[in-house]
Amino acid sequence: MRVPDLHSFRRIVVKVGSSLLVDRAKGALKGDWLTALVDDIAGLHGRGADVVVVSSGAIALGRTMLAFPKGPLKLEDSQAAAAIGQIGLARGWAETLSAHAITAGQILVTLGDTEERRRYLNARATIGRLLALRAVPVVNENDTVATSEIRYGDNDRLAARVATMASADLLILLSDIEGLYTTPPKDDPDARLIPVVERITPAIEAMAGGAGSELSRGGMRTKIEAGRIATTSGTHMVIADGRVPHPIRRIAEGGPCTWFLTPSNPVAARKIWITGSLEPKGTLTVDAGAARALGQGKSLLPAGVTRVEGQFSRGDCVVIRDEAGAELGRGLVAYDALDAERLRGRRSADIESVLGAPGRAEMIHRDDMALAGD
Ligand code: GLU
Repeated sequence: MRVPDLHSFRRIVVKVGSSLLVDRAKGALKGDWLTALVDDIAGLHGRGADVVVVSSGAIALGRTMLAFPKGPLKLEDSQAAAAIGQIGLARGWAETLSAHAITAGQILVTLGDTEERRRYLNARATIGRLLALRAVPVVNENDTVATSEIRYGDNDRLAARVATMASADLLILLSDIEGLYTTPPKDDPDARLIPVVERITPAIEAMAGGAGSELSRGGMRTKIEAGRIATTSGTHMVIADGRVPHPIRRIAEGGPCTWFLTPSNPVAARKIWITGSLEPKGTLTVDAGAARALGQGKSLLPAGVTRVEGQFSRGDCVVIRDEAGAELGRGLVAYDALDAERLRGRRSADIESVLGAPGRAEMIHRDDMALAGD
């Protein structure tokens, strides 16, 4: 099985684990390592790829700055550590990226921001806009406000959700292990690295073993879960050892790693998700001009909507019909039913005066739509 060429990807999420980034003895970031990694990232970016970083390390950095003893922290202590560490973490990324004339943008998300469709659209739009501006979003969980019941707790799964949210075609998990082994390598000298996983089967899951090191919460099990989230949404994933300088270059050169392949691509997977698994909550009827524009790959603007039916909220799936009632497609609507009704037939330039606040120009963005003929 041939592994993909790293240079063929156009949107890449790079997840960096705490133990790679934080020098516990010094209570600081590992500056040389970060500089070398950012060289690799700048290489991808310079070739035209969009890059999103998901960086752990806030708690690890903050706790060493606070000189907390080793071992598990109480929730409020880890939140305090995250509040302190996140500042240095973001600064480290921003400064290192700026040496390559790349601007960083910080995004802190909670579980709800990625799992609730209404808020998901916001985070997705912000990431999309940053990428269009050629900035590199640096994402972490908002550990200072996330409580234990409503947090990811590990950035592996968070990174997979960010990758699917951003319709990335590749997720790179940099960790302190080279990839997935047939058995946990620290217990078994005969453990073999698996270069390619084409499908996550129970046998693959059984290879994952237990938890990871003390600093990085995510062991192999959360990485496999991340692989499942990514590959079902059309995103390839690769796990590689980040402890070397230039870990991404090493993947490109065919160094040791494990690829989790997806049979799909992000756009197709998203369309299947929109048409297949979401219950439509309403209908928007559109005029002939809008129907034609949709066929040409455009977004649906309020001006083209002639009728709004149903009780839907922002982010819900709605059916798009032409004047004769034929289904043209489905999509995630950017306004709730009340506002959609107020905006029906209005120009995008009027949105602010109609709603009393600025809003999105599109009723349904092209990326959030699946047309019948797609
Ligand atoms: N969000 C946590 C932090 O920044 C890291 C979680 C993880 O290690 O996966 O410290």
